[in-house]
Amino acid sequence: MKRVVNFSAGPAILPEAVLKQAAEELFVYKNTGMSVMEMSHRSQDFKNIITDAEANLRKLLNVPDNYKILFLQGGANTQFSMIPLNLMKNKKADYLTTGSWAKKALKEAKKYLDVNEVCSSEDKMFSYIPDLNKLQFDPKADYVHICENNTIYGTKYHELPDTKGIDLVSDMSSCILSEPIDISKYALIYAGAQKNIGPAGTTIVIIRKDLITENYPDYTPLMLQYKIHADKDSMYNTPPTYGIYMCGLVFKHLLNNGGVEAIYEHNKQKAALLYDYLDQSKLFKPTVVKKDRSLMNVTFNTGNEELNKKFIELAKNNGFVNLKGHRSVGGMRASIYNAMPLDGVKALVEFMRKFEEENL
Ligand SMILES: *Cc1c(COP(=O)(O)O)cnc(C)c1O
Repeated sequence: MKRVVNFSAGPAILPEAVLKQAAEELFVYKNTGMSVMEMSHRSQDFKNIITDAEANLRKLLNVPDNYKILFLQGGANTQFSMIPLNLMKNKKADYLTTGSWAKKALKEAKKYLDVNEVCSSEDKMFSYIPDLNKLQFDPKADYVHICENNTIYGTKYHELPDTKGIDLVSDMSSCILSEPIDISKYALIYAGAQKNIGPAGTTIVIIRKDLITENYPDYTPLMLQYKIHADKDSMYNTPPTYGIYMCGLVFKHLLNNGGVEAIYEHNKQKAALLYDYLDQSKLFKPTVVKKDRSLMNVTFNTGNEELNKKFIELAKNNGFVNLKGHRSVGGMRASIYNAMPLDGVKALVEFMRKFEEENL
């Protein structure tokens, strides 16, 4: 069967070249005589895989030496608890609520800390990022938490809040590696791999080394301590070996194609194509405030549930799949992560144009 154009929000599209290489190496990896899946995580061959993956991610994001990269499990959701448990000192934290994931992170942190909700955009269905200049941070907060790209609603911080020196923690699950970033502005970045990196099952954490401490409460499960994972270079227990291998292939693929700067240009081109069409369409309306639009998740709506349904169904029959918006918002969402080719977006816009002509 022909591959479809997959706009899934996650697990999401992967680069075709990477899938093909993985298929080639699936049965026998290099000269090992076995699949990566069958390999001991203590073997030299796997050590090379994880070391290369780490080095290539470090190169892609210019990660400074005073940051540790961890390959963990449990998804971004596990970070919602690991962060408060490990970063607590004054047991206070500031959270910005810009969507469901931000809200879930806040709720989990409340179990351990005195949490201050600095702002929320829930009043308008999370269709914007609040004015960052008006925010009051608690100088005693251990950290400030943001969800940088709101996958469900399609908003993105295009600038970071000035936290006045308080450590900034960012959920970058759906925007990591989509554009160049300055790691030194963050204390900790985390991302589930399944949006913009690799298959589900691996979680990337980039943490400033001074935050890897034993300050966590005594009851903190061993697996939720950054220190144990950092001390063992992500190999305290069996890591998600095949997932890390796949992430490594994606990192190499990005490096071979001009790195994050090049993919950022590509991403801007794709998003502009779709938003420009939406801005002049008489049928489809973008749902996010212009200045806060995500480059990765593009949300739109016809304002008519029946028509939305018809569009999603017809799109699917034409090979454009997973365009249904998240169940909590409805409408449509096209996730156009790094691996989505420009041609995929071009074809979608053409299809939407045609649908518009026939249904206006
Ligand atoms: C998908 C997503 C999550 C949840 O990730 P899991 O790996 O399923 O726990 C959290 N935050 C953001 C921004 C996401 O896009």
